[in-house]
Amino acid sequence: MAVTVAGITAPVNGDRLWRSLMDMAEIGATAGGGVGRIALSDLDKASRDLFVGWCREAGLAVRIDRMGNIIGRRAGADDDAPPVVTGSHLDSQPLGGKFDGAYGVLAGLEVVRALNDAGITTRAPLEIVDWTDEEGVRFTAGVVASGVYAGQFDLDYGLNLPDREDTTTLGRELARIGYDGDAPCGGYPISAFFEAHIEQGPILEREGAVIGAVLGAQGRRCHTITVTGEEGHAGTLPMTLRRDALVGAARMIDGLNRLAFDFDPLPVITAGYLQVRPNSRNTVPGRVTFSVDIRHPDNALLADICARAESLCRRLAEEAGVAVEIAEMFGRDSVAFDPDCVEAVRAAAKRLDLVCRDIHSGAGHDACNLAHIAPTGMIFVPCKDGISHNEREAATPGDLAAGCQVLLEAMVARAGIA
Ligand SMILES: [Zn+2]
Repeated sequence: MAVTVAGITAPVNGDRLWRSLMDMAEIGATAGGGVGRIALSDLDKASRDLFVGWCREAGLAVRIDRMGNIIGRRAGADDDAPPVVTGSHLDSQPLGGKFDGAYGVLAGLEVVRALNDAGITTRAPLEIVDWTDEEGVRFTAGVVASGVYAGQFDLDYGLNLPDREDTTTLGRELARIGYDGDAPCGGYPISAFFEAHIEQGPILEREGAVIGAVLGAQGRRCHTITVTGEEGHAGTLPMTLRRDALVGAARMIDGLNRLAFDFDPLPVITAGYLQVRPNSRNTVPGRVTFSVDIRHPDNALLADICARAESLCRRLAEEAGVAVEIAEMFGRDSVAFDPDCVEAVRAAAKRLDLVCRDIHSGAGHDACNLAHIAPTGMIFVPCKDGISHNEREAATPGDLAAGCQVLLEAMVARAGIA
């Protein structure tokens, strides 16, 4: 499964990469064939331990930083030069797939293994990172640890993030699983950051491309909406007197979904988290909290969509006789990746004779944070039917190996060969 075309610096071993992915996927394997490895759970710890072991076997010096990011470093001939960095995340959604995140971490490891096999030393050092809590399932925000590394958030903010039930914090959970490292989180120059990832959308597969040279990622605004009505007996409170918070929320969710179609190009609008109080069959819901995630590549249009969304929710609340509170939890402008890094991906694909197309990322990634402090690029490979955040997420060994080879070429081109 190794890529067998000319122009290769050191051939990656596609079988070894696949085996590592499958071994990693056994940790937190779900009945539906996916993976559930929530950040800083015991399963996350197990996946971290496995990765650290593999890094050490590959001769990497491993350090853990204050946000629990795991960094495996391969020395360069000029070891004081800023490193070329790659990585992604080993945590997953509760019912996630085998490839989202794990691919980018293990592709980085395979780059190192392939360079070891070929006896190649790069001029600049290389670093492979597992970023803590990319997915944002437990601690509200997601991509927090790479954000601290890139100076987007304070360390204290990251460590004190509460979990959803407000029973613990990210920092306490890091200590609990033994990954509260003492290395500084960022604060040193890096030469470039590359992240390999499955596309999580259908474009590459549909167009028969193997490599996506990612131009950037769309902007994102996350809101929490709280709808307050009044609780009452489900059997005795007449329909005409109800202030049903769930009915109000349902109308808002439907309205927001329809609102998306007023814009061109289409934004994506998602209500993904819902909490109903008291959540009882026999009581009219008195309060509902739900999340609304709105994304678009155009920052001005994104602001416009958010304003329209807010006035829509206020109007629908009035109609349903409920109160509404809208809080923006966090937001991120769209990100454009570094033209040289994008070109390095295109050039590597071309040299390897792989069909490549430019693409925008629909999802946020750790790379979006890194783009604030270093030239950054991403490499997408196809995933089956564009399905991700799903146990059925799938990618082919050949495509994964191809993306890994492109990663190796782009990193080595940047780091230089000693
Ligand atoms: Zn991911």
